Amino acid sequence: MAVHEDVAIERMSVHLVGLPVHTVHSQGSGDVASIRSVILELVTNSGVVGWGEAAPWSVFTGTMEASASALHNYLRPEVLGANPLRVASIMTRADQVIVDANEAKAALETALLDIVGKLLGVPVAELFGGRCRDRIPLSFSVADRDFDRDLEQVAAMYEDGLRILKVKTGFAGRRFDLMRLEKLRSLYSDVDLRVDYNQSLQPYEALPRLRDLEAFHLSFIEQPVPRADRTAMADLTRALDTPLMADESIFGVHEAFLCAQQRVADVFSLKIMKSGGIRRALEVAAIARAAGIAVYGGCMFETGVAQAAGAHLCAAVESLPLGCEFYMPTYYLKEDILSEPFPVRHGKVLVPKGPGLGVEVDRDKLQRFQSAVMR
Ligand SMILES: [Mg+2]
Repeated sequence: MAVHEDVAIERMSVHLVGLPVHTVHSQGSGDVASIRSVILELVTNSGVVGWGEAAPWSVFTGTMEASASALHNYLRPEVLGANPLRVASIMTRADQVIVDANEAKAALETALLDIVGKLLGVPVAELFGGRCRDRIPLSFSVADRDFDRDLEQVAAMYEDGLRILKVKTGFAGRRFDLMRLEKLRSLYSDVDLRVDYNQSLQPYEALPRLRDLEAFHLSFIEQPVPRADRTAMADLTRALDTPLMADESIFGVHEAFLCAQQRVADVFSLKIMKSGGIRRALEVAAIARAAGIAVYGGCMFETGVAQAAGAHLCAAVESLPLGCEFYMPTYYLKEDILSEPFPVRHGKVLVPKGPGLGVEVDRDKLQRFQSAVMR
């Protein structure tokens, strides 16, 4: 008999959590004042526990309530009794019983992979050909309406070795954006600066606004215009020297294919919450690679569970020239739900080395931040 032929998912719990953060983070598509997330717990008949997370943002992906319902009402019947090693088969069924619901599918796939890794005694990245890197350069998002508070935070992180900053732009006017970029550039000449508009510019105004930024030698300008304005994205990509990144414009493989064909950007932001898990994100990365487009390790507002999954994804991608943005557990959440701190050292995320995700959820913390649980 093949190994683990008898293992089956026996229990499934959907935990709704709300976690306090240090400060409100503003972006072109709205403010974030707490992290509301869905933590998925799967337990096998042999007692192995797998953790996953759906971290929706209503203005970007879906809602927490929809993710919880997708998992509890629609995906549960496909999961209970299934052999967790059959990840692709379970996820194919998931696509058949509910369209989209990408965050819920990311949670499901993450929890399955956590179990598979634990059963086989290997980290999740090793299930995808092995890690191409052990450390991922970390970007912090400058997104506070009180810029002095951001400067204080940046000074401490710079001291610790962080060298990438993404300035969230387009929520408080052009002058505020230019002032912050000038200040950061003058204080930190060796910092890698980027900006993210989160779709807040209209196509007619975008080009002159973005030309103003070329002098800052940014590594990229992320999603300046609304997600559906692919033609405008492609025009901006051609017109600007600074690389353009598509984030909201690309969720899964079909949008990635269209966006690659139309060359809407020079870089794609990979997020497990958009693609519906690590496997699909690697498919987006493959499309990007075929088109000569770079990829980046993006995320939503997540706890350490989803960020650990993101770290394994980033470890498995062959080329990741622009790093990742998994700063939430370390620098944004007042408290995470992991039992050990999410591993960040000197401006880099350390890819967890334990079996599965390589992180564990602290049940006391989960209980404390939990608003409901569906079993
Ligand atoms: Mg973005």
